[in-house]
Amino acid sequence: MLLCPKCRQRLVKDGNRYRCINNHSYDIARQGYVNLILANQKSSANAGDNIESLKARERFLNSGYYKPLAVCLISLVDKYLKDGSCFLDAGCGTGYYLQQLLAGSSKDISFFGTDISKKGVIMTSRKCQSATCFVGNVFHLPFEEGTLDGSMSVFCPYSAEEFARVIKEGGYLIVVTAGRKHLFELKEIVYEEPYLNKEEGYKLEDFELIEQFNITYTMDLKNTEDILALWRMMPYYHTTSMIDNRKLENLDRIDCVADFLVSVYQRC
Ligand SMILES: [Zn+2]
Repeated sequence: MLLCPKCRQRLVKDGNRYRCINNHSYDIARQGYVNLILANQKSSANAGDNIESLKARERFLNSGYYKPLAVCLISLVDKYLKDGSCFLDAGCGTGYYLQQLLAGSSKDISFFGTDISKKGVIMTSRKCQSATCFVGNVFHLPFEEGTLDGSMSVFCPYSAEEFARVIKEGGYLIVVTAGRKHLFELKEIVYEEPYLNKEEGYKLEDFELIEQFNITYTMDLKNTEDILALWRMMPYYHTTSMIDNRKLENLDRIDCVADFLVSVYQRC
């Protein structure tokens, strides 16, 4: 099911490593993950996030602010996936949603988690011991064609071609992107002219959109640490000046809307 990133031959688990027919081998680290990324497949800027921002993200998510989204993902997986399915979290971050799926899904599913951030994958594999976790690149997924029954992509980069290649006919892709009003109250503080998000799912030629809805609710952000952690999780943080980003540092509590667009696609 997993492929060697060097020669694209099947990987077989052999003790505490994976090995292909050409004798390329990949050790399973003591934390339980395997590194299936080649140096030339890493993203240019920074391969994932630094440890401080990952820890801040983990603290924020563990506070339960995005729990309604996790509950929704569990219900979608249970609705569409059958017992015996293989399901990939393509861009698992620190493993929050994967952990929720492992704990909450009533289906007997083999879960996989991957991220380009090695530190994120280590955090994921620690808390998701029954999942197969690997450092990987969503633009070069180390899976054979048509092997996955489903995958999800929560606020992540993606490759339409790769999802079409690895998800089998009739399989599912669950996508979460920002809804129009997501974090608007924070934007009102940071920007002179705050804007609503352009709401869109993924552009996927080989998939049919079968379900799409918003999850919208108000979060009571209770301290500066949570507010900053949330803001730093968003792509806007990196495109906003430090002076504007710092406007949030004086805020100690705010009600803020979470608005997620959830799209379910089926492979044609
Ligand atoms: Zn190989």
